Amino acid sequence: MLPNATSSYFIADRLFEEARAFFQERGSQDCEGTALLAGRPVDENIRLTRLFIPEQRCIKVPLPDGRIGLRVELTEHAHYTLTDNLAPGELFYARIHSHPGNAFHSQTDDDNGVISHRGALSIVVPYFAAEPIDLRRCAVYRLEHGRGWLPLGTDQIEQVFRVTDE
Ligand SMILES: [Zn+2]
Repeated sequence: MLPNATSSYFIADRLFEEARAFFQERGSQDCEGTALLAGRPVDENIRLTRLFIPEQRCIKVPLPDGRIGLRVELTEHAHYTLTDNLAPGELFYARIHSHPGNAFHSQTDDDNGVISHRGALSIVVPYFAAEPIDLRRCAVYRLEHGRGWLPLGTDQIEQVFRVTDE
């Protein structure tokens, strides 16, 4: 089931801890990391149940100003087999990836088609997840068909996500 505009996403904090551990490990090699959050509908809402880490490639590109640009992409194999990793009734509802610095959606992030259903969510975690992941310090975007990935304000983030302890 696809989310509707008023769906809330329940997510256990341990999934953020798992993501953080992975992003820190990638960050120690100066690489961004990317992962997907799978879940299933519960009534009108979505419960995110699992962090899935696809096979990925860390891309480092020298920039004209001497810095190194980073991005991360799924391997071709990971792309084509992505949905094989879903159980019946599950869907990848959100992607989450890390940046070396500030959290924002780059052009590459906008163009990324790993998930593309209406209402898909994208979380960008700053500073290779140096701090525990707190969505209010992340950049969070929602895909609105016809309008692209739109940033959510803090109020919207708190409406959309319900972080739980279990
Ligand atoms: Zn990015």
